[in-house]
Amino acid sequence: MKYLSKITVLCLSILWLTACKDKQSDTAETKSESPESEHHEEGHISLTESQADDAGLAYGTFGEEEIKIAIQANGNIELPPNNMASISPLLDGFVVKINFLEGDVVKKGQELVELKDPAYVKLQQEYLSVYGSLNYLEQELERQQILNDADVGAKKNLQQAQSQYSAKKAELAALREQLSYVGISANAIENGKIQNRVYLRAPFGGTVTSVSAHTGEKVMSGQEIMQVINREHMHLELQLFQKDIPKVKKGQKVQFTIPAFEDNSVYEGEVSLVGKNLNMDSKTIRVHAHFKENETLIPGLYTEAKIMQNNKKTRVLPTSAIITDKGTSYFFIKTETNGNEIDYQKVAFEPGIKSKDYIQIKSYDKIKDTTSIVLKGTFTLKAVMNKSEGGHQD
Ligand SMILES: [Zn+2]
Repeated sequence: MKYLSKITVLCLSILWLTACKDKQSDTAETKSESPESEHHEEGHISLTESQADDAGLAYGTFGEEEIKIAIQANGNIELPPNNMASISPLLDGFVVKINFLEGDVVKKGQELVELKDPAYVKLQQEYLSVYGSLNYLEQELERQQILNDADVGAKKNLQQAQSQYSAKKAELAALREQLSYVGISANAIENGKIQNRVYLRAPFGGTVTSVSAHTGEKVMSGQEIMQVINREHMHLELQLFQKDIPKVKKGQKVQFTIPAFEDNSVYEGEVSLVGKNLNMDSKTIRVHAHFKENETLIPGLYTEAKIMQNNKKTRVLPTSAIITDKGTSYFFIKTETNGNEIDYQKVAFEPGIKSKDYIQIKSYDKIKDTTSIVLKGTFTLKAVMNKSEGGHQD
């Protein structure tokens, strides 16, 4: 008899595993031992000890695992406006030479572009002329001052000399300013050095990202000849949903990918600033993150980032303990043992973070830590339950 019952159970196991609806092999005896006839209410099933053994059921309790938690935040690679410069002349001129090409690295103050134009010479001559006039007016003012002090000059002449001197002085100051803008030294002109070239210099060290003029071309004031960026301060601007605001702090690691790149490379960075202003439309705040310089990363790229949280010890079950049915996740607990019969109860729960081997059991505290949970063989229980809940169509 023992031999026979073992065979019966084996047949049953195969039936459950294959969820086979073909009951041709069902005998009166299998029916009498079938769990179908022994299930109680919804979510409950019973197995005999030997059925449980054959199904390979193994029990345990909730585990604790450190699970990596990350917060999703998407955004763009950006460069602060102060780290991007358009190299353009302040006065029209002809391009004599462009010293760098796209991709070249330049140092602060280096000559990038050489320009020439008759207007540069004219401007310097104008300066010299005003400079000369000012000298004359200064002497004239001194003379009128002396005459006035000696009470021989007309007061009117002194006032006139004063106003002419002041006006010329202002004119000279304006020209000086204009010359310094275009990089011509007024002191050099005063010493008789007139130059017919001007040089556009790098406002900061960086990389040339574009060159948009060529030798011999006449460029107008304000026209961009070259663009230089300082990649050092390139960063991520991420949009963080308001619910995640309390979790994100300066210094947290960031892992990000560029969906446009097909190589799935993961780049690393770090949160350097968490914004304080909530965007009322998108319900997000800005998170600023820095990353190591990498040539493939350029401003404007869209990024998908994860802000890594401290690994958290969390209540877990092995994935083998979990089944999913119609979108709901379940595990089974052992509720009762009556002689040879073991009762199981299906328990729905909210799944949290999933790793390869574990799944977080979120906010489930209705079960004591000592309760026996089915850790292995769960699929067999599911098959048995589906079969019993599916009714007796045969
Ligand atoms: Zn930054």
